Amino acid sequence: MNAASSSSNAPEGAPQHAETGTRRLAARPAYAAPPQPVAQPLPRHSPAIGGLVPFSTVDWPGQLAAVVFISGCPWRCHYCHNTELQTRAARYDWRETRAFLATRTGLLDAVVFSGGEPLSEPRLPSLIRDVRRMGYRVGLHTAGIYPLRLADVLRHLDWVGLDIKADAQGYDDITGRRDSQRPALACLTQLLSAGTEFECRITWHPDWLDETRLLTLARELARRGVRRFAVQGARSSPGAPPGRALSAQAQTMLVQWFEEFAYR
Ligand code: SF4
Repeated sequence: MNAASSSSNAPEGAPQHAETGTRRLAARPAYAAPPQPVAQPLPRHSPAIGGLVPFSTVDWPGQLAAVVFISGCPWRCHYCHNTELQTRAARYDWRETRAFLATRTGLLDAVVFSGGEPLSEPRLPSLIRDVRRMGYRVGLHTAGIYPLRLADVLRHLDWVGLDIKADAQGYDDITGRRDSQRPALACLTQLLSAGTEFECRITWHPDWLDETRLLTLARELARRGVRRFAVQGARSSPGAPPGRALSAQAQTMLVQWFEEFAYR
C-alpha cells in the first residue's frame, strides 16, 4: 500500500450543536467510541486488522470514509511509512470493528481497506461482504501485489487506489523485491478492463525517478487508458511537506494528459 496515504481523525463522542439565528438545534447523541487494540492475542485465524481511522476525507477522494488497515505486506519499500503494518498481526477484533462501523452508517459514505497490503488478508472477501451488507461503498488501496486476489474481489469494489511504484527500471529498487512490476501491471490491466473506478498514484521523489522518467511513465499510463493519476510528493514523515516539489511545467503536462490529476 502507499506510504503517502493519510487520514484525518474526527473528534469522537463530542456533543454537537449549532445556532441558526434564534433557533437552537438539538445536540446529537455522542458517537460510539472506536474499538481499541486487543489486550490479549486473538485466535490465529482472525483477520489481521492492524488499525482503524474512523473518519477520513482523503483516502478516497470525494468520499467520507472509515479506513480499515490490514497488516501484512510482502514488499519492503524503502520509503514505507507503515512499517508496523508490514508484519501480519491481528491487533483489532473484526467483530468489534464491524460493530463500530455499523454505528456509522448514514454518517459515512464508504469503508476503505488499506494497509499494509489489504489483499494479503485471505479473509478480505468476507470483510468486504460484511461492510457491503451495511450499505457502504467499498474502496481498496493496493500496491498490486496479488492480481488473482484482486480478480476475486474486484466486482465487489466501487473504487481502487493502485500504487505505481516506478518505471520498469526502478520498480525493484523501490519495493526491495524482484520482478515486482509484473503483478502491479497485471492489476492495472484488470482495472483497465473492469469498469471499476480507480486512480493510479505514485509516491515520488526525483532521487528515485527524475521528472523526465516520471513524465514518460505517466504518458504511458495515459496512453493505456488511465484517467485519474496522482503524484504524492515523498515526505520524511506523514504530515511533513514534500521533500522536493514537482515542477510547474510537469504539472501542466500531467493536467493535460489525465481527466483528473492531483499533486498531493
Ligand atoms: S507496499 Fe508494503 S512496504 Fe511498500 S509502502 Fe505499501 S505497505 Fe509499505
